Amino acid sequence: TPAKTDYDLCVIGGGPGGYVAAIRGAQLGLKTVCVEKRGSLGGTCLNVGCIPSKALLNNSHIYHTIKHDTKKRGIEVGDVSINLAQLMKAKDDSVKSLTGGIEYLFKKNKVTYAKGTGSFVDEHTIAVDGLDGKKQQFSAKNIIIATGSDVRKYPGIEIDEERIVSSTGALSLSKVPKRMVVIGGGIIGLEMGSVWSRLGAEVIVLERKDAIGAGMDKDIAKTFSRVIQKQGIKIKSLTKVLGARREGESVKIDVEGIKSGKKETIDADVLLISIGRVPYTEGLGLENIGVSMDEGNRVIMDSEYRTNIPHIRVIGDVTFGPMLAHKAEDEGIAAVELIVKGQGHVNYNAIPSVMYTHPEVAWVGITEQKAQELGLNYKVGSFPFSANSRAKTNQDSDGLVKVIADKETDRILGVHIMGPYAGELIAEATLAMEYGASAEDVARVCHAHPTLSEAVKEGMMAAWCGKSIHF
Ligand code: FAD
Repeated sequence: TPAKTDYDLCVIGGGPGGYVAAIRGAQLGLKTVCVEKRGSLGGTCLNVGCIPSKALLNNSHIYHTIKHDTKKRGIEVGDVSINLAQLMKAKDDSVKSLTGGIEYLFKKNKVTYAKGTGSFVDEHTIAVDGLDGKKQQFSAKNIIIATGSDVRKYPGIEIDEERIVSSTGALSLSKVPKRMVVIGGGIIGLEMGSVWSRLGAEVIVLERKDAIGAGMDKDIAKTFSRVIQKQGIKIKSLTKVLGARREGESVKIDVEGIKSGKKETIDADVLLISIGRVPYTEGLGLENIGVSMDEGNRVIMDSEYRTNIPHIRVIGDVTFGPMLAHKAEDEGIAAVELIVKGQGHVNYNAIPSVMYTHPEVAWVGITEQKAQELGLNYKVGSFPFSANSRAKTNQDSDGLVKVIADKETDRILGVHIMGPYAGELIAEATLAMEYGASAEDVARVCHAHPTLSEAVKEGMMAAWCGKSIHF
């Protein structure tokens, strides 16, 4: 047996949940080790998720804008073309510098970084099968499981990451496909669909439900669906995928209309499967110590992130709640603070979601449909970006702000934004909700003019007193 080193805290997984927990642990005085098997820190988010997707979204948006949206602005450009290899390199460079940045932060905060696969030997011992072939063991008073999630597979369709791809393959195609079919109209499908559509692919999104944009307020999802179809992305809702197979250089996808029962086969160069993600615990040896999981393979936790073995906690995608990087990070901090100080806090009613398409869609709190389901006495105020001076001036005014507030107390219950920089604007609404603000509170805050944030203020006015100034 390899020699054991003793730690106060061992974090398994170096994604946004795990690396943040490790840094916070070290900052609060715990001798901390973080085990990561990928060979680089940052997890799904930095390596094959949030960051590379945003690099491609940003640069494909710039390309698309230059190609299609300059004339009316009085800018004449010559030939514009894509150098896909350089676009991918720019993405890889961003990822590399950020993952390297976390390694630096580990050194700075004196977190031990163990490169390899961690598995439970017993309730206090983690064996690490090193990427360099070496074996180590750590014992720790406290352990945090932060092993994240993996792509959800479509039954009967095999992913080869070349023609039939997951989000990971869709982030590094070597050629712009002529036609890309996307299974699943959720955030990842619409983001990756947008990237390849802007780069020239014909994109068809297949969605089982009657609307795209899982989790979004229905009004916003409907408006967004109209805008994105105007951009050229085709959406086939109420469509079931029966199967798909590769035939040489193309993929045949058999689909059936859920209402019509009509069957057809669609040809594509690339098929992207983006139907969600599943918790990941493979090779972790949870069975060796009897950590409980639910039927969806999520590691079960209590309100203090404890598993059924109290000194072993769990955070991020591998447990309950929205699979989002900032949720994992905040849980990492809270879990460590619970270990050290006995208290920690994440407000699950105020976790923002953002879809980084153009326009962006962002929301926090409950949708109008949820308010109805809960039987709440609520009111709604909305304000279109077409009435916001900055959005008009920028010639970028698709979208709206929709505020849901309690009818009696005026307390904000949910804010839904579709529009330019919605992902930045939602921070104000999140802060307001965190502090239990009323719509009037935000409506009375002085917002700089001309800014997009005035649309948030006016949405709040509409919710509070039924009338905004400019609409
Ligand atoms: P992960 O990031 O999955 O990290 C877990 C880590 O644990 C992995 O690196 C894995 O290698 C390691 N690991 C697993 N088992 C072991 C083991 N036994 N030993 C050692 N190491 C192990 N979220 C957002 O908030 N915003 C976005 O814009 C966004 N965009 C996304 C785009 C895409 C294409 C995808 C796929 C996801 C996106 N997400 C986004 C989701 C986000 O990536 C996840 O919510 C986030 O990474 C979860 O963090 P985590 O720390 O729980 O797990």
